Amino acid sequence: MSNCDDTNYKGVCAILGFEPEFVKMDFCDTAAVEQLFDSHKIDAVIHFAAFKAVGESVKEPLMYYKNNLGSFLNVLEAAKAHGTNVLFSSSATVYGEPDETPVTEKSPRKSATSPYGNTKQMCEDFLRDSVAAYGMHGIALRYFNPIGAHPSALIGELPRGVPNNLVPFITQTAIGKRECLSIFGNDYPTPDGTCLRDYIDIVDLAKAHVCAVRRMIDGLMDEPYEIFNIGTGRPVSVMELVTAFEKVNGLKLNYRIAPRRAGDVTAVWADPSLAESKLGWKASRTVEETLAAAWAWEKHLAAKAQ
Ligand code: UDP
Repeated sequence: MSNCDDTNYKGVCAILGFEPEFVKMDFCDTAAVEQLFDSHKIDAVIHFAAFKAVGESVKEPLMYYKNNLGSFLNVLEAAKAHGTNVLFSSSATVYGEPDETPVTEKSPRKSATSPYGNTKQMCEDFLRDSVAAYGMHGIALRYFNPIGAHPSALIGELPRGVPNNLVPFITQTAIGKRECLSIFGNDYPTPDGTCLRDYIDIVDLAKAHVCAVRRMIDGLMDEPYEIFNIGTGRPVSVMELVTAFEKVNGLKLNYRIAPRRAGDVTAVWADPSLAESKLGWKASRTVEETLAAAWAWEKHLAAKAQ
């Protein structure tokens, strides 16, 4: 809760029609984590609790190492003690600037270019080694670029301050919170000169977690530690995304071409075929549907603020 309020929890309750148990605690607090595991019967953990801003991680590396690694070590200790399955939120950032696209799970991990990326690689290794040593089961899902919101517009992204990511910046510009979107570079070696990414709808992404948890608790894993790319397999350029947003929502976006952003890779997209064959999961939502949902969410936030 250090980077959000209870809006999304309330949205979840409204969608479900009941209030799932919610415990507010710090996962870096070892005793509190032990107590949580001791007092509940937990089949599987989906560990999302981590800081995720690349730039901030460069400025505050120790804060990132302490929080992202410390909280996950506590989860692993407790999971080891209780035989709990562990699903870790990893990231396509572990591939860095890939030599070949699309990337498969066998593509090499490149040296991390930020403390944030380093924590994703290290946590993958913590899970791999714990599984090997303690007879546990774990899955790392490597997310590509998650975007969008729940179609109900009741849950979505709530970045504090100026957003770093493209889609919240687009929606905030469209609503008038930001004056102009900067497109970071149009001189990349890509068809239109802007970077290529694999934008994955947040609802599709959520469903991948359901499939992965099922695979663990139903004992369907081929190996006790598995990794899956969670993407669409479809490269989309920054310019294409901006144009699609304008078209599907019937508006014009104020944007300009700006210099490249330090640390951006030219192109990365997933080969998601392993997730399809093993998890029975495939992204199904179109970029247009996702961008319409992102816009509905921004409008919902604006209406709430009035
Ligand atoms: N981007 C942009 N303007 C922005 C934010 C992002 O042009 O205000 C570009 C960025 O250079 C990258 C793509 O959008 O090519 C996706 O960036 P984002 O930060 O959303 O995700 P990343 O791929 O860096 O994890």
